[in-house]
Amino acid sequence: MNEFPSMDETSPAPIEITPIRKLLIANRGEIASRIQRTCKAMGIETVAVFSDADADAPFVRTADEAVRIGPAPSAESYLDVASIIAAAELTGADAVHPGFGFLAENEGFAAAVGEAGLTFVGPTPAAIRSMGSKQKAKQIARDAGVPVIEGYDGEDQGALAKEALAIGFPVLVKASAGGGGKGMRIVHEESALAAAIEGAAREAKSSFGDETLIIEKYIERPRHIEIQILGDEHGTLVHLHERECSIQRRHQKIIEEAPSLAVGPALRRAMGDSALKLAEAIGYTGAGTVEMIMDTDGSFYFLEVNTRLQVEHPVTEAITDIDLVEMQLRVAQGEPLPFDQELVDTMVSGAAIECRIYAEDPSKDFLPQSGRVLEFGLPDADWLRVDAGIESGSEVTIHYDPMLAKVITWGRTRWEAIARMRWALRRMTLMGLKTNRDFLIDVIDHPAFVEGDLHTHFVAEHFSEPREPDAKLLQRAAVAAALVAWSRRVGPVANVLTGYRNNRFRDQRVNYTCGDAALEVTYADLGDGSLRVDGELIETGVDGRTVWVQGADGLRWRAEVVDADGSWHVLVDGRTFALAEVPRFPDRSAGASSDGAVAPMPGKIVQLLVSVGENVRLGQTLAVMEAMKMEHSIAAPHAGVVSEVRVAVGDQVDEGALLAVVLEEDD
Ligand code: ADP
Ligand code: ADP
Ligand code: MG
Repeated sequence: MNEFPSMDETSPAPIEITPIRKLLIANRGEIASRIQRTCKAMGIETVAVFSDADADAPFVRTADEAVRIGPAPSAESYLDVASIIAAAELTGADAVHPGFGFLAENEGFAAAVGEAGLTFVGPTPAAIRSMGSKQKAKQIARDAGVPVIEGYDGEDQGALAKEALAIGFPVLVKASAGGGGKGMRIVHEESALAAAIEGAAREAKSSFGDETLIIEKYIERPRHIEIQILGDEHGTLVHLHERECSIQRRHQKIIEEAPSLAVGPALRRAMGDSALKLAEAIGYTGAGTVEMIMDTDGSFYFLEVNTRLQVEHPVTEAITDIDLVEMQLRVAQGEPLPFDQELVDTMVSGAAIECRIYAEDPSKDFLPQSGRVLEFGLPDADWLRVDAGIESGSEVTIHYDPMLAKVITWGRTRWEAIARMRWALRRMTLMGLKTNRDFLIDVIDHPAFVEGDLHTHFVAEHFSEPREPDAKLLQRAAVAAALVAWSRRVGPVANVLTGYRNNRFRDQRVNYTCGDAALEVTYADLGDGSLRVDGELIETGVDGRTVWVQGADGLRWRAEVVDADGSWHVLVDGRTFALAEVPRFPDRSAGASSDGAVAPMPGKIVQLLVSVGENVRLGQTLAVMEAMKMEHSIAAPHAGVVSEVRVAVGDQVDEGALLAVVLEEDD
């Protein structure tokens, strides 16, 4: 059963195991689902806790049991320690996994779980506390012989300005209790120092309830490199090599990879040894991450320890084949780790990349978005892993972190992992709300990314200008939407169209907007198996939401189309576009267009009784259309002259389509 060689014979003392039979997961979304997956594999039952906003979320449905713990705001649900402990008692859970974010690094929560007689899946409250403050953590790291950045981490907050001057600009002012990039200020000159210290202290106080600051020399072009560590209660401590997380926006990671191109075997050993020295100093157990920053010359410095599972842990799992959640649970049960450092080193192979899919708008400084996910899916491949918190139909609310999913690819080489990521992201359907998916594709396509010239300002440096959508693709998206709408009116469209109609062919027109762009598609069914689209003869096929188009040059392109309430979401050539259909006759209800005769419902024109220039009476039949197996007369809205006929016999028309225009004589 055990895929790792047993090391039990090396530990003489009998090992006491406290088995976990039912685990409460004090988190939500993708990480809750991910923990459930390992529990199922280990035969551990799961309890989900959820807020009202998550009542229909996938992680609630797939848990063995679920308990509502409060309303949507996290402060009243996922951060409510008493409700979570009560849920564990209600369901008879014997252990609690905090995931990441929320209460994961809250020593009070870890202690409360222990006091309730439950196992906390994570390090001891004391270890969490010692690493919870960057000030204390740096002091411990320095004492343990780990390189720390030149800076000030003393108690005397009145000395901050003087110390900053001594270090020399630029400096970084940081909240000691900080996290998620909050409470940080870069200072380039003395004149900005006092205001930065004051601002950072204020932000630290309001975000973390602790205004203590530290100061660090600001490294201009660093890489963020972190070491994954694992420790058990029997004295074994190992590191699972590094992850590089330099691709960030707003000091937050969006793309991570393992191994790092900047870390060779000697550096890996040095960084790993440093991480383990620190872990040993605090008696670390379970999974943790030692974050470091690396300068362009390869020197590295300790940043902080995250005493929990990290968002980007899957890239380490992909290159080591070690399930970190399984190891967390086994350590929490009191089991020894089934490997030592030497064995871990032999298990590493290939390269892995993770892209975090966020509901956010890259063109608006990554502003978080909310809305409904109309469609979500990725192809299957054995080198592809998708950790998702959403499914088709999910509602994304403003209450929580806007991370929707993580896509992880493994390759024998970094190039292969990148190529596979590109392949997967370009085939991902994720429609309905704005996400960073196309942006991620642009980043991994960037020559500097492929070369591995990474640093924490990569996004700011290479992607400061918003990218214009490709006009040709945008038009294809509009054509795809128009063809899907058209096929719904004419029924299923196979490879070629059948039926021959002897008529004159007038082009229909559909208009869309996409952001600032206005698009127009014209098409006419020529009745002989071909269509004329934007003036070009094409062949097409529509199968549900998939449409293909083949032009005169023989190129056949494909698109996926999903729509809701007049908005069309199109995936074409790896890009997604959201198009808003412009109503055919937007002002017909306003009376301004009382000259027009419009189709009352979708249907087919079977008779055209007037032509341009003809005088007509009020109510005179202009055309006859067939819809729902009945004929309907289209009447002149008033007496006058027919100035335009927009349709021909045989045409399929939409509801609201303008068929003809009759001008009053005195117009
Ligand atoms: P750090 O940013 O501290 O170096 P990570 O990159 O691992 O570490 O990110 C942790 C952050 O991820 C949390 O602080 C939180 O903002 C965010 N996060 C993402 N998904 C979730 C989730 N399901 N629950 C809570 N927090 C989440
Ligand atoms: P947090 O707890 O918010 O995650 P960290 O100390 O881990 O804070 O820093 C977050 C990010 O800020 C790093 O990944 C890096 O991009 C940047 N950063 C932190 N310290 C420095 C520094 N001394 N010089 C340059 N950049 C830094
Ligand atoms: Mg950090």
